Amino acid sequence: MSARKLAAGNWKMNGLTAALSELDDLAGRENGCDVLICPPATLITPAVAHAGEIAIGGQDCHAKESGAHTGDISAAMLRDAGATHVILGHSERRADHGETDAQVAAKAVAAHEAGLTTVICVGETEAQRDAGETLDVIAAQLAGSVPDCATAANTVVAYEPVWAIGTGRTPTGEQIAEVHALMRETLSARFGDGGDVSLLYGGSVKPGNAAEIFAIDHVNGALVGGASLKASDFGPIIDALA
Ligand code: PGA
Repeated sequence: MSARKLAAGNWKMNGLTAALSELDDLAGRENGCDVLICPPATLITPAVAHAGEIAIGGQDCHAKESGAHTGDISAAMLRDAGATHVILGHSERRADHGETDAQVAAKAVAAHEAGLTTVICVGETEAQRDAGETLDVIAAQLAGSVPDCATAANTVVAYEPVWAIGTGRTPTGEQIAEVHALMRETLSARFGDGGDVSLLYGGSVKPGNAAEIFAIDHVNGALVGGASLKASDFGPIIDALA
């Protein structure tokens, strides 16, 4: 096996029922790579009916299987709703909900037990980059957030510099290459098949910069926020990867 190419869209807290027509437009295309859309939880089940070959995922799950956790969703519930993937440890979850690496790893274990593929996010803040700490931060997040049960079949890792998310700013090709090389090396050293884990870049990926980003070593795809909301933007990003 070698790392699979994946174009993943994270709709975040965007999308009412009418947005499912975007999936119809994407599903009608020939895709030469894996495609994943993570809509809000309310749209997971209806999204599956519109998705064709496109995989549907959640944006978070709880580490417990069930219980008194108001407002939370378990991995088994996501699976039951039709999801095959779940994003974990997104920087917005880490910042807005105080999620730690240990919590992300616990959620990933629960997700794998439920049969979901995890998309585990790591990324440095601007202050950490300015302080020259980027590689240490990424290494620590990988060590803490990726559980021992991770394999290339059940885990995707996304490098998302916090300062590049939704800002229109992207790292240089050298900066992305440096982090992706570290991720590949770290995962290969830790896991037998870590060399085959798909590594995504995320943060202001657009139709106009996607091809350049996909040409970087060890970049196997993208996790896309804003530009995944419309098929007219996400379609060309898929084409650039395929
Ligand atoms: P963006 O978000 O593409 O809107 O920058 C990426 C993400 O947060 O996954």
